[in-house]
Amino acid sequence: MINLLSQCTLCPRACGVDRTQGGRGFCGADDKIHAARAALHCWEEPPLSGTQGSGTVFFSHCSLQCVYCQNRTISRASAEGVMLSPSALAHSFLSLQRQGAHNINLVTGVHYVPQIIESLSIAKEQGLHIPILYNSSGYESVHTLRMLEGWIDIYLPDYKYYSSYYAERCSNAADYREVAVEAIGEMVRQTGRPLYDDNGLMLRGTMIRHLMLPGLGGDTAQVLRDIATRWGDEVLVSLMRQYTPFDMKHWPELDRTLTDAEYADGCSLFSNFGLSGFFQEKGTIGQSFIPAFDGTGLEIDE
Ligand code: SF4
Repeated sequence: MINLLSQCTLCPRACGVDRTQGGRGFCGADDKIHAARAALHCWEEPPLSGTQGSGTVFFSHCSLQCVYCQNRTISRASAEGVMLSPSALAHSFLSLQRQGAHNINLVTGVHYVPQIIESLSIAKEQGLHIPILYNSSGYESVHTLRMLEGWIDIYLPDYKYYSSYYAERCSNAADYREVAVEAIGEMVRQTGRPLYDDNGLMLRGTMIRHLMLPGLGGDTAQVLRDIATRWGDEVLVSLMRQYTPFDMKHWPELDRTLTDAEYADGCSLFSNFGLSGFFQEKGTIGQSFIPAFDGTGLEIDE
């Protein structure tokens, strides 16, 4: 598995760098797992957070690098976080399960997929049994997602942009839509329709998130229409309003929060297209829902 890092094409950037020899590609990750937090998280959608929280592991680095990223302190190429062996990561998973997590929620881990699979293998041998959730920007390669088949129970991808202009301007990825649509199709193929336990907690399925951006209501309409056309009730959709600007002087059009009217329009479209899923409360706007990325909960090797 580790050889996959010697000419890395794990994500669609396909940098081809040798991460085993110190090379770093667009994401900035080397060949060691780095993460920033492993803790119960209560701000995911209700079938994921339940009453006790989702066992969320935030990995360092990201292959998309959106200019407005709310987790920018850990997603940027220069971010480091805590270095973990696959076995230490497995112990972090098991610790979250002991704390009562309803699932293990792997946030932005595409650049660590080989090591994540190794960690899941170790943890499952030691009793990890809760659903495994793969939380993604949607910018994923199908060949990497196929490596995850059988390991992941729930996919939680973003579908961020329809327009290649905004995808390039905000995430340096003009091909975002084409890539994400293929990736989400693979995720839906693997999971099938949403499945729940007796308490309404999600056991399997794909939930697509769309973060509305200020002034981009037209793009949201095209994203929601595309989801409805391609997957209909095979997926859940979460329409998010939590966009919070920071230092956006180079992107002045994004330097404000969403208005109530913009979000209401998005909700109307969501209903008109017959989508199933979740809306977001206004109170979720702001920095308070961004957890501390201070290494909390990560089990370090002795
Ligand atoms: S995971 Fe990182 S190094 Fe590998 S192809 Fe993607 S951006 Fe490049």
